[in-house]
Amino acid sequence: MAEPVYRRMAVIGCGLIGSSVIRAARAAGAVSEIAVADASEEARERISALGLAEEVHADPAQAAAGADLIVFATPVMAMGAAAQAAAPAMTPGVTVTDVGSVKAAVAEMLGAAVPAGVHVIPGHPIAGTEQSGPDAGFAELFQNRWIILTPRADGDAEYQAATARLTAFWTALGANVEEMDERHHDLVLAVTSHLPHLIAYNIVGTAADLEEVTQAEVMKYSAGGFRDFTRIAASDPTMWRDVFLSNREAVLEILGRFTEDLQALSRAIRWGEGDRLFELFSRTREIRRGIISAGQESAEPNFGRDRGKH
Ligand code: NAP
Repeated sequence: MAEPVYRRMAVIGCGLIGSSVIRAARAAGAVSEIAVADASEEARERISALGLAEEVHADPAQAAAGADLIVFATPVMAMGAAAQAAAPAMTPGVTVTDVGSVKAAVAEMLGAAVPAGVHVIPGHPIAGTEQSGPDAGFAELFQNRWIILTPRADGDAEYQAATARLTAFWTALGANVEEMDERHHDLVLAVTSHLPHLIAYNIVGTAADLEEVTQAEVMKYSAGGFRDFTRIAASDPTMWRDVFLSNREAVLEILGRFTEDLQALSRAIRWGEGDRLFELFSRTREIRRGIISAGQESAEPNFGRDRGKH
């Protein structure tokens, strides 16, 4: 097995993603020692029972003490407070990263919390499931998935070396690393992940509110399309509330475009414009084929993982 990339990794917030980072890092031998902090007592008990870490704490600073890599894997809106709590234990040269689904807001929160000389390199694994908690994680989650890092553009040589080291870490875990501007990340993810979740939450809510169709009928006749939406709409409420509130601008921008396109579709249906519908459905079919041939058919957050695989 290769040399560990980091000596001690602290994971702050150890649910689905945090515990998957731990499992994958252990399997790859990418770290020598792991310390965890989690706000939930129930999660801490499970982390200890699963033997995921050498140390399990409630206080982020205790987990962060002595770590050369600190990974924040809490819901997005909790990252600022978690980073402030861990900050007293951070020393210059340490790398601080995260796995949050939104990048500009998180970069700001982490940047404001850490002391000088600490390298903040935000990150987002484009991999996940609709499950939560430390039992839901698994070592293979990041295999062949994208990890988007959003490093500062004006980083010095030491910062660039820290980014290269973090890239080596994720590569050891089986992921493909891409660098991106944080605002661009938030716009791309608003289209590929955040809006689809919003649509799923909305359509399942609409079906649940329909008085002419009973709940029993919705369950009984839920064909492929609706069933897939219910899976996405089962995603963690805290995580997704935080995503929409912290990526408000990009989501509203994409939602505006989506609403216009939906209006156009509605007109096409009203006026019987079959050619228009057929042309759109043919184009979208090609996009699906493109995703499959790019090998990413199950890579979107909360999309397409086999349930029961973890
Ligand atoms: P999760 O399973 O719910 O785990 C989050 C854990 O963090 C929970 O145990 C939570 O405890 C704990 N926590 C909350 N606030 C904390 C704090 N201040 N200090 C320490 N621990 C704290 O969530 P997840 O699905 O792994 O998501 C974690 C992050 O990954 C999110 O930022 C999300 O946007 C991102 N992400 C998720 C996916 C996905 O598919 N799930 C994919 C890519 C990225 P409580 O339960 O008590 O709050």
